[in-house]
Amino acid sequence: MNYFSLNHNAPKVKFSEAVVKGLAPDKGLYFPESIAPLSKELIDNIERYSKEEIAFQAIKQFVGDEINEVELKRIVAETVNFDFPLVEVEPNVYSLELFHGPTLAFKDVGARFMARCLGAFSKFDEKKVTVLVATSGDTGGAVADGFLGVDGVEVVILYPSGKVSDIQEKQLTTLGKNIKAVEVKGTFDDCQRMVKTAFLDEDLNNTLNLTSANSINVARWLPQMFYYFFAYQQLKDKTKNLIISVPSGNFGNICAGMMAKRLGLPIDLFVASTNANKVVTEYLNSGNYEPRPSVQTISNAMDVGEPSNFIRIEELHQKSFNTLKTALLSFSYSDEQTRMAMKDVKKHTGYILDPHGAVGYLGLKDALKNVENAQGVFLETAHPCKFINVVEDTLGEKVDIPAKLEGLLSKEKVAVSLENNYDQLKELLLKSASIQMV
Ligand SMILES: *Cc1c(COP(=O)(O)O)cnc(C)c1O
Repeated sequence: MNYFSLNHNAPKVKFSEAVVKGLAPDKGLYFPESIAPLSKELIDNIERYSKEEIAFQAIKQFVGDEINEVELKRIVAETVNFDFPLVEVEPNVYSLELFHGPTLAFKDVGARFMARCLGAFSKFDEKKVTVLVATSGDTGGAVADGFLGVDGVEVVILYPSGKVSDIQEKQLTTLGKNIKAVEVKGTFDDCQRMVKTAFLDEDLNNTLNLTSANSINVARWLPQMFYYFFAYQQLKDKTKNLIISVPSGNFGNICAGMMAKRLGLPIDLFVASTNANKVVTEYLNSGNYEPRPSVQTISNAMDVGEPSNFIRIEELHQKSFNTLKTALLSFSYSDEQTRMAMKDVKKHTGYILDPHGAVGYLGLKDALKNVENAQGVFLETAHPCKFINVVEDTLGEKVDIPAKLEGLLSKEKVAVSLENNYDQLKELLLKSASIQMV
């Protein structure tokens, strides 16, 4: 499988190069050159397949022949080795719980898959790959856990000092091995800027094999297709119209759902549920696409002012506004509406939503009003305990912390402290490269 750049000004590359590079040299996102539907037999008989087999069938054309079948099956099995339960919250309203992975956030699947692909490619390369990533919270934990112990890959994670939750900080700083946590005296935007500067630094790139691990990377984006197959597999009644609502920030997850539909999954309508960061919601209403600086909300993993994957969604809909409008609805909700939904759902059903899932729930309910004979799934993208302050404050009660996280809180934090200064980061990266060579 070849990938082309959506800026159309760079050579086509194979899967391995798209994964190792992340972004094309013309700064465009990579996109697969062709997309073939899966067999109807698989979709019609999906209950008979294991989740490992479904995931393998969904991803194999996008990997091509660069990872052999036995190894790809192993990678996929390790990627999805936890549960993805579909829970009925109300009649015709289901929550697809994507928080049963090791770091309790849906980003685990993409991080685990990408890490294992890079590990497979680095076997043929003498130079180690260094994954450099800035995090405002969830991404860092998922990447740290996903890449832990992968041969040939060093991971450096920058996070803003004092601006991530205790659980999130421990998830980054207690693993050791090939994971290095860097605590920056600055904001997330400062971390992001330092990382971007590093990617453009020729000197550094001559010495190191640098790559990023955010959702623009095809190996993090595409495996998110699996969720939609798992949701469909678990639906008891497959005759009703199916609506899927995705709480969206960078729009990688929902774009993967649209790929699953292209592979033949019968999804009738997508809903992009957003918080106050509503560029796409407004675009679908007005036809004007106007990115803005992000604003802070209680569903902060979706605080994105310029969603990087939206261009892939346009590509999937022939770059036609009208085609997109028939496939996608979008609604935006304030923090107040989000908290209200969390309270109402808890009161009437006992189900605890995290703020991101609550935005997804609201979007689904609004979409269901417009479609006859429909049922819907919203994606619950994080465990409520990852946003424990907001959840406890909203519901006025304690939330249980799962046993697998409790042990974490007593572990010792290990992090390198840096000023908000690129030269310090560069020095650190070069030093670790010279250690790798001996
Ligand atoms: C990253 C994230 C999102 C947004 O997903 P995108 O693919 O960026 O749209 C939603 N919820 C949670 C909890 C996240 O961590």
